[in-house]
Amino acid sequence: MDCIFCKIASGAIPSKKIYEDDKVIAFHDLAPQAPLHFLVIPKKHIATLNDLTEEDRLLAGHILFTAQRLAKELGCEQGFRVVMNCNELGGQTVYHIHLHVLGQRSMSWPPG
Ligand code: AMP
Repeated sequence: MDCIFCKIASGAIPSKKIYEDDKVIAFHDLAPQAPLHFLVIPKKHIATLNDLTEEDRLLAGHILFTAQRLAKELGCEQGFRVVMNCNELGGQTVYHIHLHVLGQRSMSWPPG
């Protein structure tokens, strides 16, 4: 499959990896929008949040749990932001779900 995040998950293309287990991988974003900006992705290809199925419930929780654990380990225990863009209107550009984790600066609201 021609999916850049599947290629990162398989190691076919390099990334600045932070964490990996049998279900997820976390790596630094190529174009960081905060001093700390990393992505947590499932190894399973799921194109958008709309494509989650019942069988992905535990996986979805594992992505979120991994995000908060790594954020705290990387010095963001005081606060951080998680974002998952869904489809074009939601600002998604890579069609393999990924949770953005942004930290080490204060965040404003609403997002753009
Ligand atoms: P989104 O717009 O929510 O789909 O986010 C896609 C994110 O993936 C953007 O923040 C990109 O900077 C990031 N990105 C794209 N290609 C790579 C890559 N090869 N390694 C790390 N991050 C990437």
